[in-house]
Amino acid sequence: MKLEKSKKLFKEAQKYLVGGVNSPVRAFKSIGIEPIFIEKAKGSRVWDVDGNEYIDYVLSWGPLILGHANDQIINAIKQVSNYGTSFGAPTELEIEMAKAVVEAVPSIEMVRFVNSGTEATMSAIRLARGYTGKKKIIKFEGCYHGHGDSLLVSAGSGVATLGIPGTPGIPEELAKLTIVLPYNDIDAVEEAFKKYGDDIACVIIEPVAGNMGTIAPSKEYHQRLREITKEYNSLLIWDEVMTGFRLALGGAQELYGIEPDLTTLGKVIGAGLPVGAYGGKAEIMKYVAPEGPVYQAGTLSGNPLAMVAGLRQLEILKEKNPYPDLEEKGKRLEEGIKQLIEKYNIKATVNRVGSMMTIFFTDKEVKNFEDAKSSDLETFNKFYISMLEKGIYLAPSQFEASFLSTAHSDEDIEKTLNAIEDSFKEIGG
Ligand code: PMP
Repeated sequence: MKLEKSKKLFKEAQKYLVGGVNSPVRAFKSIGIEPIFIEKAKGSRVWDVDGNEYIDYVLSWGPLILGHANDQIINAIKQVSNYGTSFGAPTELEIEMAKAVVEAVPSIEMVRFVNSGTEATMSAIRLARGYTGKKKIIKFEGCYHGHGDSLLVSAGSGVATLGIPGTPGIPEELAKLTIVLPYNDIDAVEEAFKKYGDDIACVIIEPVAGNMGTIAPSKEYHQRLREITKEYNSLLIWDEVMTGFRLALGGAQELYGIEPDLTTLGKVIGAGLPVGAYGGKAEIMKYVAPEGPVYQAGTLSGNPLAMVAGLRQLEILKEKNPYPDLEEKGKRLEEGIKQLIEKYNIKATVNRVGSMMTIFFTDKEVKNFEDAKSSDLETFNKFYISMLEKGIYLAPSQFEASFLSTAHSDEDIEKTLNAIEDSFKEIGG
């Protein structure tokens, strides 16, 4: 595979950008290769600067559920940009977008738009603390909620990928207020509430985890978590930055039939433009300024280009209901991979929910971060490189989910399974 231009650009990038990138996982550091620089993308495909073509399962880490450069979304952005790029004042588009979110997500009565998933979770935590008057929060090992100070403790995604152990730069006094518990273990939650229940402002969880690879807890687990948080007047925050509008139009909460107090959103809500949001019960949201005392603001929040891109994407999702089809495609891919795992006797397990999927290189059932960490990372890396060489672009870490879009065709899935078969022959043989 020719990668000369990418290599040249990476050398140049490292002179001016920390690690040559603007977000750590993009550097491919844990894989031991240099990143490829992307030139363009369309549908399920991306092309790098050397002209190599890939079937893309990263999809900008999740936002592009309709595939790259969807014509309707691109046209909407072009049209709106004729009127200006930002006003820092209210627009009608924001109302339409808020309506679309409130109608789609069962538990959201009011919403505030921000510019990223990180901002959404950071703000939701502040609101939970402000609303309850309590200080401690509970998060789960391997869940990643962006890089806000309170949440960057035992985090998944790039923190797990790079094996960064502690939280340098985050005052111990603050980190101490974050209680970290094993994912998918209700006894641990019961115990923590018995001990600290009076001072727990909120529990934040990825309802289906994607940042330690894909892991879905049982309905009973989520039901009990809902009950316990209610019992202790602690807010339940579902971080649906990854799962929102991806697993269903109403996100994981539609699938599980559970209503959190607050929900955070990102990725799909912006169709690849910088949008995040947090929302929930009106009574709680009204604690946010200017109605309430909890301050949170943003110069570019509700930006018209971002709003129209997200809105158009949500409208298409609502109109087309692509979720049964995404489930069908996901199932085909999952079953194909499982057959290949058996055929080539690979020590691996596949976890999937709808269009989110991870192959873990362990023969253990993966139900929490400990299980995920039992994956053989050397095998993952070999597999990763082999797939890249065959034109399949996966997330460059074992602790991430791969995503399908409506643009992935049957032929793409066929090609991907063929590439996996060839890679398994290499790594298994
Ligand atoms: N929460 C979850 C569940 C995420 O997956 C991510 C990003 N991967 C974030 C929060 C942070 O979002 P952003 O990168 O947009 O700040």
